[in-house]
Amino acid sequence: MKYISTRGQSPALSFSEILLGGLAPDGGLYLPEQYPQFSDADLTAMRGMNYRELAFAILSRLVDDSDIPHSDLKAIIDKTYRAEVYGFARAGQSAEDITPTLKLEENLYLLSLSNGPTLAFKDMAMQLLGNLFEYVLSKTGQTTNILGATSGDTGSAAEYAMRGKKGVRVFMLSPYQKMSRFQTAQMFSLQDDNIFNIAVKGVFDDAQDIVKAVSNDHDFKAQYKIGAVNSINWGRIAAQIVYYFKGYLAVTRDNKQKVSFTVPSGNFGNVCAGHIARMMGLPVEQLIVATNENDVLDEFFRTGVYAPRGAANTYHTSSPSMDISKASNFERFVFDLVGQDSARVRELWTAVDHGGKFDLNADGYFDQVADFGFVSGSSNHADRLNTIRASKQKYGVTIDTHTADGLKVALEKRDPQVPMLVLETALPAKFEDAIVEALGVAPERPASLNGLEDLPQRSTVMDASVDAVKAFIVANT
Ligand SMILES: *Cc1c(COP(=O)(O)O)cnc(C)c1O
Repeated sequence: MKYISTRGQSPALSFSEILLGGLAPDGGLYLPEQYPQFSDADLTAMRGMNYRELAFAILSRLVDDSDIPHSDLKAIIDKTYRAEVYGFARAGQSAEDITPTLKLEENLYLLSLSNGPTLAFKDMAMQLLGNLFEYVLSKTGQTTNILGATSGDTGSAAEYAMRGKKGVRVFMLSPYQKMSRFQTAQMFSLQDDNIFNIAVKGVFDDAQDIVKAVSNDHDFKAQYKIGAVNSINWGRIAAQIVYYFKGYLAVTRDNKQKVSFTVPSGNFGNVCAGHIARMMGLPVEQLIVATNENDVLDEFFRTGVYAPRGAANTYHTSSPSMDISKASNFERFVFDLVGQDSARVRELWTAVDHGGKFDLNADGYFDQVADFGFVSGSSNHADRLNTIRASKQKYGVTIDTHTADGLKVALEKRDPQVPMLVLETALPAKFEDAIVEALGVAPERPASLNGLEDLPQRSTVMDASVDAVKAFIVANT
């Protein structure tokens, strides 16, 4: 399996060759040359599989044996997807399922993706990435310095995945004193030598701009082997495909049944994996994209116009991990929507990359969106609180704010005849303040995380300066 760029002007490469990078050299995103197909017989065979076996059945079709020997791939998967790693399952759910489902009512389920170490769905892919990075780096004798910016979830998932990994250092920028106490404690309490937390005096965008500036300094990037694990990384998307199959198999008896998924979305990384699962043959009826007040994606799926917004028009909400107005993985879906015409993608993103927008009505592409199963809706702060309350009252289940955005939209858009899986992207313990606001009581926290905020913390406070960050990397490599 080779990977090509959505913009069509980069050489085709193998899985391990694109693993450590982000964008293709032509500015596009990598996708498989063609999607592997899972037949009816394949799906039937999958029905007896546990998560690890399922992950291997899918990922071994995306990674060549000549690239990463499949016996090694299997060992990496087996080491990653263990109940001990994804141990925060609710009472009554089995951690062995890795992504257990929870029935709320007839044809309505939560697919729990947030039982990993940082209580958010990003652990599903990031833990695998950590083990894959270590494997590929040790095989080629390379090292990498991962540089990233976070407003909370991505940074902690990356650090918990990369801590202690040979050949990997993580330099994670976060806005000084702007993350929740829980998120700060989660990241800053790590004492591993290869993890460096940099608290930048500024907002998230300042941190993000520094990462961009360092990455655009090609000499520095090459000399210090700067890598990234942001949401466009193909390895992350690939790992996320697995739980769509897992969820489907958990709530259906035979392959004639279709299911729908609702996905709380920001960067379009999670739902993009659902789209690809569908392209591989998974019987999906609807893929419902749920946004918060930052509704750029909902606007596209309603109108055919994609108009990313700037930082000034991006609101800070109570589902902060979806406060995104430029969905970096969206280009992957549009590539398929326009019939994999990379010249057309280049045209569309020439506009977007220069601060513009595009409209897919005129050439008829927008009419085809429904053929891909996509539907969308949005939610706001009051909706979230109401949904959290309703879920608690009706089902006895406390959900987090992001999952609440999903459930709200799912209830509006679903076909009650078709099983609906709402992806649970974080556990409520991670967003305590909003839960207290909705329910008047703090959410239950996994016992092993009690006292997290009292652990000793380690971070370096820095002015929002590219040179200061570069000097810090130089001094610590
Ligand atoms: C990252 C994140 C999302 C959004 O996922 P995308 O892949 O960016 O669409 C939703 N919910 C939570 C809790 C997240 O951390």
